[in-house]
Amino acid sequence: MSRRRLLLLTVLLAGAAAFVALDLGRYLNLEYFKSQQAAIETWRAAHPAAAALGFFLAYVAVTGLSLPGAAVMTLAVGAIFGLLWGTVLVSFASSIGATLAFLASRFLLRDWVQARFGERLRAINNGVAREGAFYLFTLRLVPVFPFFMINLLMGLTPMRAATFYWVSQVGMLAGTLVYVNAGTQLAAIDSLGGILSPALIASFALLGVFPLIAKKIVDAVKARQVYAGWTRPRRFDRNLVVIGGGSAGLVTAYIAAAVKARVTLIEQHKLGGDCLNTGCVPSKALIRSAKLLSHMRRSDEFGIRSAAAEFDFAEVMERVQRVVRTVEPHDSAERYAGLGVEVIEGRAKIVSPWEVEVVANDGRTRRLATRGIVIAAGARPFVPPIPGIEEVGYLTSDSVWALRELPPRLVVLGGGPIGCELTQTFARLGSRVTQVEMAPRLMLREDPEASAIVTRRFRDEGIAVLLDHRAKQFLIENGERILIAEHAGGDVRIPFDAVLVAVGRVANLKGYGLEELGIAAERTVETNEFLQTRYPNIYAAGDVAGPYQFTHTAAHQAWYAAVNALFDPFKKFRADYSVIPWATFVDPEVARVGLNETEANERGIAHEITVYGIDDLDRAIADGEAHGFVKVLTVPGKDRILGVTIVGEHAADLIAEFVLAMRHGIGLNKILGTIHIYPTLAEANKYAAGNWKKAHAPQTLLAWVERFHAWRRG
Ligand SMILES: Cc1cc2nc3c(=O)[nH]c(=O)nc-3n(C[C@H](O)[C@H](O)[C@H](O)COP(=O)(O)OP(=O)(O)OC[C@H]3O[C@@H](n4cnc5c(N)ncnc54)[C@H](O)[C@@H]3O)c2cc1C
Repeated sequence: MSRRRLLLLTVLLAGAAAFVALDLGRYLNLEYFKSQQAAIETWRAAHPAAAALGFFLAYVAVTGLSLPGAAVMTLAVGAIFGLLWGTVLVSFASSIGATLAFLASRFLLRDWVQARFGERLRAINNGVAREGAFYLFTLRLVPVFPFFMINLLMGLTPMRAATFYWVSQVGMLAGTLVYVNAGTQLAAIDSLGGILSPALIASFALLGVFPLIAKKIVDAVKARQVYAGWTRPRRFDRNLVVIGGGSAGLVTAYIAAAVKARVTLIEQHKLGGDCLNTGCVPSKALIRSAKLLSHMRRSDEFGIRSAAAEFDFAEVMERVQRVVRTVEPHDSAERYAGLGVEVIEGRAKIVSPWEVEVVANDGRTRRLATRGIVIAAGARPFVPPIPGIEEVGYLTSDSVWALRELPPRLVVLGGGPIGCELTQTFARLGSRVTQVEMAPRLMLREDPEASAIVTRRFRDEGIAVLLDHRAKQFLIENGERILIAEHAGGDVRIPFDAVLVAVGRVANLKGYGLEELGIAAERTVETNEFLQTRYPNIYAAGDVAGPYQFTHTAAHQAWYAAVNALFDPFKKFRADYSVIPWATFVDPEVARVGLNETEANERGIAHEITVYGIDDLDRAIADGEAHGFVKVLTVPGKDRILGVTIVGEHAADLIAEFVLAMRHGIGLNKILGTIHIYPTLAEANKYAAGNWKKAHAPQTLLAWVERFHAWRRG
């Protein structure tokens, strides 16, 4: 603890100790005050300014030190200074005292509390940042929680001191008036209980519900403002219109139909969206073929002298399309029609908060009136404006699936998940791949050791991984395509036959009515925690809404968007992002749930790390995949998992156990106590839990047990 903190703590403790030691509390009760009331009034008549100052400072001290007695003092001030001056005096003294207590708590404890419990407090911090003033106002008006507790607890949150002061002053004013007023009647009140007459209780209850009523009114006024100028249809043909038939849109429509709502799903291109047509499914199918080739190249590792693979790239790409076609029926118009969803193939545009215009693929235009709208328009690859890029031509994750000839020399721009998956896949299929990444390491979101394993593997497989290289320009020289990349102050020339751009994805935000309706959408469609846009009946889910860009998060959000759109204002749910897993399907796979070490350090979250090396795992050794690790972050000294990273064969499957554990508050002790089949890769999870347990073994107890055994041996 710093010296200044120690000094403040000493002063506060000394103040509290003096209060107890000198029994100052005896002066802060109603009987004592009533017995002295006449004398105090005489003194106040003779020295009005000194009396006011004295009461003011005493009041600040009592509230600032969080001592009991403020209520009695308020009554006393009312009795002595009357309603007007009493209210002024108490209002300022109580607000200043409360703010001093708030500041003291912040100075002494906030850093420590946030470092230790930051992860758990995130929702509270966010809530305070968003609506803290309103909550504080509610708490000040409703005397349910002791004010000293509110002062101290608010000091631990990110609320600004100025906000705390003025909200406290305004919020406490009504209560102050009531108490000071009661004080003016002090002669008639025998106990604090006497103040709580039915009339006073009723007025406090009214004060309590007032902020809630006020919030409802504010929300209704806000909604009216948003909808002003639009004419609401008298009736709706549908409960819900969903724009976009990718993962988010399909799940939204599915849920709506399951709860018997009338729902229309509009898709302009291909049902299934990116995941089925250009994302998860084709990429995983291609990865499978590439992995088979990599195994054949490693045949001698498995005791097979040589294994040759003869293949045609075009046939491999045709297989990818066969896989897509096999999965396609899951997302087909027929299936969804069978579930009760009206599916329209066409382009949708929101023309009013309750109307969607569709230009169907057959050229017909229709206008649909709907109670709610869910925007699930997805995202597309971002193509950076690098000079010469249009001239050389480029592939993206949208167009790469149409290739039928393997590019002999492929440049992949981008070291994120999509760039890495496609880099390794094309290299295994036989392209000479150069991967260009401007950051100092691949897969920047993951911990450095995960990046290091992947980079090492890529280089071992013959991939040229160029880190700290920024693509600057594309040229065509003597018919050859060249990328100029900036590196360490100089230029690097990289000749290539094809370039695949995989530097991120941007949400689809144009051309379907967002601008016309003034729906905020800078990088993604802006929504609140219920996934509502500024129009409470228009929602967004999936890649178009962010913050994650995965199929499973799109589906997760879709549930909230569908349920909220259909059941608000009766019930709505905040989208819960507390346990989000993901994986990058490179070899070895990299999977994560919750925090990693890098993030924990960046956010100052206290953590312990437990690592189990998969190189030691029997099954991994037998499979020739003895590499990677399970890394678990836990709360120091507690069996609570903060996050897990797994690098290794089938990491994306292995992590499911930790996802379940985190989602349901299960700790490592329980994982350790669960039987895992031998020999499996899943045992890695149990061994990681075992390492954690070993590190937390009760040493003192074990020393005694050792003595016990020695004694038993005689
Ligand atoms: C190469 C690659 C690999 C990936 N691998 C994985 C993976 O392994 N795991 C994973 O979880 N995620 C993966 N993803 C991400 C995943 O594909 C997306 O997160 C997911 O598809 C998002 O679903 P969505 O419904 O939000 O958007 P999309 O799937 O993009 O669907 C949006 C749909 O809306 C339609 N649309 C847009 N505007 C309109 C309009 N005005 N009218 C009508 N229709 C409209 C579009 O045509 C599109 O079909 C991968 C992505 C790529 C590119």
